[in-house]
Amino acid sequence: MRSSVQTTSPPLASLLLGRGAPVLVFDVGGTDLKFGDVDEDGRFTHRGTTPTARGSQEEFLDQLSGLVATYQSKPVAERPRAIAVNAPGIVDADAGVVVSAVNLGWSNFAVSAALKARTGLPVVLGNDVQMAGLAEHRLGAAKGLRNALVMVIGTGIASAVILDGEVYDGDGYAGEIGHARMEPLASTVAMPCTCGASGCLQTMSSASAIARNYAAVSGVPVEGAKEVMAAAEAGDPAAVGVLNQAFDGLALAIAQSVALLAPQAVIFGGGLSNAGDALLLPVAARLESILSFHRRPLLRSAHFGPLAGLIGGAVQARRLLCKEQPTGGRQTPSPWRD
Ligand SMILES: [Zn+2]
Repeated sequence: MRSSVQTTSPPLASLLLGRGAPVLVFDVGGTDLKFGDVDEDGRFTHRGTTPTARGSQEEFLDQLSGLVATYQSKPVAERPRAIAVNAPGIVDADAGVVVSAVNLGWSNFAVSAALKARTGLPVVLGNDVQMAGLAEHRLGAAKGLRNALVMVIGTGIASAVILDGEVYDGDGYAGEIGHARMEPLASTVAMPCTCGASGCLQTMSSASAIARNYAAVSGVPVEGAKEVMAAAEAGDPAAVGVLNQAFDGLALAIAQSVALLAPQAVIFGGGLSNAGDALLLPVAARLESILSFHRRPLLRSAHFGPLAGLIGGAVQARRLLCKEQPTGGRQTPSPWRD
C-alpha cells in the first residue's frame, strides 16, 4: 500500500458494520481526500488521507483510480466489490453526477460513470454530509430513530434530513440549512454569504463565522470558535454577544425544522460539536423558549466525528451491491439489505 495508507485506528478499528461484501470509500473534501476499505467482517482495515487532486477532473479520476488499484492488489477475496464516493456540494445521487461543487470548481461532473469505466467496479455517489448523516442514523447517535436532523457545523453549516428511516436528499438540494436566511428581509445588517445571498444561518452560526465575527467586534483575531468560547467563559462581553447571536440563529433554524419535520433528535457534528454541552445547553434553553406544542427533539453530539462520511459511504456501497444482486442469485449477507 502507498505511504499515505495506514492501518486504521480507533474509533474505526472497533467499529463493525456487519458481514458483507468488501467495499472502498472515498470521502472527498476541498482540501483532503479521505479513503478506506471495509472487509467482509465489516471492519475498516486500511484507511488514509491525501491532498485532493484539484487540477482537472481527469487528474482527480487518475488519483482515485490509482488508489483503487492499490486495493485491487489485495488477495481476491479481500478486493473491494463496490466503491462509494462522497462529494461536497449538490449531488444527483441517482445520476451519479456532482451537479455543483464550488470548492472543487466542479459542475456536472459524471463521477460514477467515469470511475466505473476506469475500474470496472460499481460506483455510488453521495453528498458528504448526507453520508455522514447516514452513518449516524445506521450506527451512531441517531440509531433506531425514524426521523432526525444531523447538523454539521464547521466552516459552513449543512445537514442530513432523516425522514421515515431514510436520508431525504431532495434530488441533491435538501439539507442546506446553513443557507437558510435568518435575517428579516428589511435587515440592513445581513452579512454576505459565500453562496451569493446574505443573512444566511452560516454567516452567524458556523464555527468560522463565530471566529470571524468575534474578531470584527473585538478587534482581536482568533484561530477558531474554541477561543471565542473560552473568552465568553471568562466573561468577555464581545465573545458572549457573538455566541448569543450564533446560538440564537441555530435555535431559530432548528425550531423551524422542528415545526416542519418533527425530528426525534437533532445531532450536532462538525468542529463546533466538540464544544459538547457548551453548545447543546444554550441551544436547548432557546428551543424551550421558542417552542410551544411541538415535539421536543433530543439534542445530541454526533458519534463518529470526521470519519462519519467514510462509514456512511461504506453502508451505501454495500446497499448498492444488494440492489444489484439478481433476484434468485447468490445473496450477499448484509444487515443493510432492505
Ligand atoms: Zn448562504
